[in-house]
Amino acid sequence: MPFSLHGIGVSRGYAIGRTYLLQRNQPEITEYTIPDAIIEDEVQRFLNGLELARRQLLEIRERAPRTASNDITAFIDTHLLMLGDASLTDAPANLIRSLKCNAEWALKVQRDMLVQVFDEMDDPYLRTRKDDVEHVVRRVQRILVTDDPAYPSDADYSELAGSRLEGRIVVADDLTPADTILMQHQGVLAFVTEYGGPLSHTAILARSLGIPAVVGARNARSYLGNNEPVIVDGRQGVILVSLDERILRYYRHKQQEERRQQRELNKLKGKPAVTRDGVSIRLQANIELPEDAVTVREVAADGVGLYRTEFLFMNRADAPDEEEHLASYLHVIKVLEGSPITIRTADLGADKQVDGGRGGPVGTNPALGLRAVRMCLKDLSMFRPQLRAILRASAYGPVRMMIPMLSAVHEVFQVLRLVAETRQELRERGLAFDEKLPVGGMIEVPAAAVCAAQFARYLDFLSIGTNDLIQYTLAIDRVDDEINYLYDPLHPAVLMLIRNTIRAGQKAGIPVSLCGEMAGDPRYTRLLLGLGLTQFSMHPAGLLEIKRVVQDSHVGELAAVVRRLLHTTDAEKYAELLKTIAQN
Ligand code: PEP
Ligand code: MG
Repeated sequence: MPFSLHGIGVSRGYAIGRTYLLQRNQPEITEYTIPDAIIEDEVQRFLNGLELARRQLLEIRERAPRTASNDITAFIDTHLLMLGDASLTDAPANLIRSLKCNAEWALKVQRDMLVQVFDEMDDPYLRTRKDDVEHVVRRVQRILVTDDPAYPSDADYSELAGSRLEGRIVVADDLTPADTILMQHQGVLAFVTEYGGPLSHTAILARSLGIPAVVGARNARSYLGNNEPVIVDGRQGVILVSLDERILRYYRHKQQEERRQQRELNKLKGKPAVTRDGVSIRLQANIELPEDAVTVREVAADGVGLYRTEFLFMNRADAPDEEEHLASYLHVIKVLEGSPITIRTADLGADKQVDGGRGGPVGTNPALGLRAVRMCLKDLSMFRPQLRAILRASAYGPVRMMIPMLSAVHEVFQVLRLVAETRQELRERGLAFDEKLPVGGMIEVPAAAVCAAQFARYLDFLSIGTNDLIQYTLAIDRVDDEINYLYDPLHPAVLMLIRNTIRAGQKAGIPVSLCGEMAGDPRYTRLLLGLGLTQFSMHPAGLLEIKRVVQDSHVGELAAVVRRLLHTTDAEKYAELLKTIAQN
């Protein structure tokens, strides 16, 4: 019978394919002899393992989201029944006694026997029950073999680099941005993770890769078998399992419909992004990898508003040198043929961990710790090569430098001093660069948004990073799906900080853009236009849809409603005005 699992849809689109379950540390089962004197102790160890597995399943059932279908609980109940069945309780216990072997081996012997029986069944439904046996046995074996049975910490995802993932839907407990990058060239159809929120860097990468993704699908791997046919609906955050022909037909139709809509949107390529009342809006792209530059050109974006450079530091032990930085910038400059490119200096730490100990300590509140510009200013041996490379790249095209996570103006002074020193160094080396290279900053810490006018005095442009701004304003970890329901881009505090930053830029006469995920979400476009935003930077796949909304909007009318919105203290009125804006 079909059933569905639920998480958070983070990258739109539908994928129909077979799962590839990434299991961390699948326990190695070996046989060893148990002396007669302690056979009954071994049986007891086995029974304790069964009991722990039972408690885990009860807990999973308890934690299943209220929206989960009854089929999910039925699924868990099946596993609970199996755990109590003589074939998985008495039989292995007897094998321990007769073979004088360890519990996990006895379980393996019994599992092999049961799998063979299932394989010989004619009924296809009963044959699929084999997966249930596998799941239950694996759970108990993990408990018996490891101390932390559910999620051992020393992940080995080296298989991500293999080619077996092509055409598969990867299901993992969590994926780091580095894992996601590894998957890029493997032809993965979609991915599902048990943890993580929509603003995690992993989710952002999925959007940039243009593959459907669902995160926060708790315990997904407990319900899914390997190589199992599923559908991933990255819009709704749903994974459909045990498919029948009717569901498949429906989703194939949805895939076709999506392709049709995309063809319609493609007609907007090259058309101006001008509102109904004649306001010209700049739509730029966020890129994660040099290869993404091609997509930027495909959607005819007005250049790159955010080039995240963290990929340069990932999946390696050492830091990239100046030439490596330069090569990756020149690649993008070449592909974009004269469009502006905003290169962000390394934003490592917190959700962008890298190998080689350059990710900062993970345990101590990493989002509030040594990340981004803080880390760069602390480790100049890492920062200086990037500054040199960005400056050198500016000799080849219109480049801007952007500093992430500024919280105090003295950080701007430090960066500007380093840039000045780097210029001098390049002059001495006889290397060319743009003397007027604009240096801007990301406004993504509430302190910087409140004091945006101060930052605007010393910087050439500002870019609002709402992913972090929302996390820090509302005290909600952007990667924690448990509190994701509080992550609210429409919170009045967030909107006031955005407005304050836009105004500060207007007063100082410098451009202000917004490059957080809000910029690429059509639900917020009219609101941002009403707040006075004229530059958006987003994942290229969403750009044409935003252009359509822009062409359909009237900034003058929206601004009037947004003014009322920010003045009201009545929650109902606030919600009503938001609705008006969305429909305007
Ligand atoms: C942001 O914080 O909004 C942003 C664009 O930067 P990142 O998501 O890379 O932290
Ligand atoms: Mg950020």
